[in-house]
Amino acid sequence: MKRIAILGSTGSIGKQTLDIVRMHPDKFAAEILVAGTNIDLLELQAREFKPNIVVIGDESKWAELKKRLESLPIKVYAGAKAIEEVVTLDCVDIVLAAMVGFAGLRPTLAAIKAHKPIALANKETLVVAGQLVMQQAAMNQVPILPVDSEHSAIFQCLNGERHLTPKTIILTASGGPFRGWTRAQLENVTPAQALKHPNWNMGAKVTIDSASLMNKGLESIEARWLFSCPPSKIKIVVHPQSIIHSMVEFEDNSVKAQMGMPDMRLPIQYALTYPDRIACPAAPLDFAAHSNLTFEYPDRAVFQNLQIAFDAMEKGGNVPCAMNAANEVAVKAFLEERVSFVGMSDVIRTVMAKTPFVADPSLDDYMQCDAECRKIAEEAILAKL
Ligand code: NDP
Repeated sequence: MKRIAILGSTGSIGKQTLDIVRMHPDKFAAEILVAGTNIDLLELQAREFKPNIVVIGDESKWAELKKRLESLPIKVYAGAKAIEEVVTLDCVDIVLAAMVGFAGLRPTLAAIKAHKPIALANKETLVVAGQLVMQQAAMNQVPILPVDSEHSAIFQCLNGERHLTPKTIILTASGGPFRGWTRAQLENVTPAQALKHPNWNMGAKVTIDSASLMNKGLESIEARWLFSCPPSKIKIVVHPQSIIHSMVEFEDNSVKAQMGMPDMRLPIQYALTYPDRIACPAAPLDFAAHSNLTFEYPDRAVFQNLQIAFDAMEKGGNVPCAMNAANEVAVKAFLEERVSFVGMSDVIRTVMAKTPFVADPSLDDYMQCDAECRKIAEEAILAKL
């Protein structure tokens, strides 16, 4: 029985993780559930899964949640500090890190320091502080098991090959809803259009990142740290069917790919069961129904966020942290119709240009950089209004 702390249980990844727990009650227990603000769903989840602890990030919602759960033997906590504390408890065997954004960094680091294996969905953690997180994981001998489908695919392709250095890591991208569009066509994209992903049903932030291809940039930085891979060895291939989840090319030009239906429950479950495999609620792949697998290269002049992320990755230091903060602010502003779809790239570039370079940042440096870049991003958005 693995006892899981699910950070972000009310989100897309969190809910799919609970599907897996529901299917395998003999193998997994939802020991701790953590959400941001959604106490209605957190209450339902608590009643069904009977966790030991629930934590609500928004402290103003604690009293109401506590009252709703008072008839159950569940401890109810609130706030960012509580999240950092509960992941370190003895009752936790593995932490599923699926909060969205920079907020996921500190709890993940706290769990690593407490020697808890991490099933990592929160890509922003490695984008912001990949070097620090991987150093801490190595020092504490903690495995970081990828949940992101692309990284899970690469991880699976490397099974039996970890003694080799891959020639290329090839991340596949669906291309999102605007594949093939021109820059001019992107000018007037609405949030509703950008939120319609062709293959995946995900949270709002990652869906917008997918539409702008920033998601593939974030994933490239994530891959750089997870697989100790220099940026020059990371390639992106657009594969609109999302059946091949990513690939590894070896020195002899042999390419290994991992395939399956686009269903996040597969990579989530593999991170929880690795190195074993068990029955999964994801549907089997019907080859005849997916006979047309196509590939093309992305247009970085149109989808500028992808190039911005590669530039940030090349520069290193605190630049990816600055980019990430600016992107989080820009995505929120786009969803609130305060900045245009293409305007998001301008905001991110402005913030990156204005941020003083720090080559080897500490956690405090990252915290400060994130806070300052958010301010600069908001100012840049206001200045354009
Ligand atoms: P969602 O927006 O659907 O869910 C985010 C979760 O985080 C919610 O449970 C939310 O709580 C919680 N949360 C947000 N802020 C806080 C906070 N400050 N404190 C505590 N909890 C918080 O996101 P996704 O599930 O789509 O994505 C989660 C992460 O996984 C992201 O980093 C994303 O990039 C990554 N990912 C997602 C994929 C997907 O298919 N969805 C695929 C691969 C990676 P509440 O609902 O109460 O606000």
